[in-house]
Amino acid sequence: MDMISGLRDAAAATHRSMHPELVAAFSLEGRTAVVTGAGSGIGRATAIAYAQAGAHVVVADLHAVALTETATLVEATGATATVLPTDVSDKAQVDDLARGAVRATGRIDVWANVAGVIRNSPLLDLTEADLDAVLAVNLKGAIWGCAAAGRIMKSTKRGSIVNVASTGGEMPAPTLVAYATSKAGVIQLSRVVAAELGPFGIRCNTVAPGFVDTPMTQRSWVGADGAFDETKRTAAVDVRRAQSPLAVIGQPADIAYAMLYLAADASKFMTGEVLRPNGGVFMA
Ligand code: NAP
Repeated sequence: MDMISGLRDAAAATHRSMHPELVAAFSLEGRTAVVTGAGSGIGRATAIAYAQAGAHVVVADLHAVALTETATLVEATGATATVLPTDVSDKAQVDDLARGAVRATGRIDVWANVAGVIRNSPLLDLTEADLDAVLAVNLKGAIWGCAAAGRIMKSTKRGSIVNVASTGGEMPAPTLVAYATSKAGVIQLSRVVAAELGPFGIRCNTVAPGFVDTPMTQRSWVGADGAFDETKRTAAVDVRRAQSPLAVIGQPADIAYAMLYLAADASKFMTGEVLRPNGGVFMA
């Protein structure tokens, strides 16, 4: 055996698994993480990633049955879950969610504002109902989440809040006036919260995903007859792939790993920042 292969074998023998220091940096062991929008897509994947990292996960969404399914997936990782159906656009319900999380485990270490809705409409046709619906969930919901989390985290002098924006929050596109402005607001929300709550040991960052294959995006490929239009999907996905230097679209787990990084101590030097898992379609 030559010297190089000898050294390589010795290194392999001592580093068969991830180094404990790295494990600790990404671990949420002993922590409680609240995830909104956890009944579907990116929220569900985030809840699972937090569970895989060892957290007790408090899952919140409008849909109780979907939350129970998420809780089953969380528990399959060996972690524990608390299910709390919540409408994030209602401040009182978000405050109840925080109280429920504290009742379950006595603490909140991580709060992920993932719940969101989209309405596509040209500016000139935008209805007040659509604008209100988008702002109520995407912006107001995230603000109430930050406030509820901040109130608890301030008392323990530590915590990480992760808000979900979108490429649309920074890159203009037609028909997205309600959605894109709400997500631009989320990016600035994280910065203000980071500035205001940083002195209490609380971090606040944004994940701004590109196009991800989730029920939210799949809904746009349902035809007028209610049937899923595979041709429409393929065409839309091809367009998105063409925008990426990697020729990819995102999967929920791609975003969940960014959510985990910002939740964990691995990112303890980051606050007020935007992390952009988007396949390279937009580089700021
Ligand atoms: P999704 O599959 O539709 O999941 C979002 C979940 O949030 C759904 O269960 C939704 O319920 C729920 N929700 C809606 N309004 C709520 C409310 N008032 N209170 C509590 N929960 C509520 O969407 P997703 O694609 O995973 O998106 C998750 C987040 O990522 C959103 O903030 C979205 O804007 C953002 N994002 C997504 C993409 C993408 O390409 N998918 C890209 C960039 C950013 P309903 O099904 O009833 O609406």
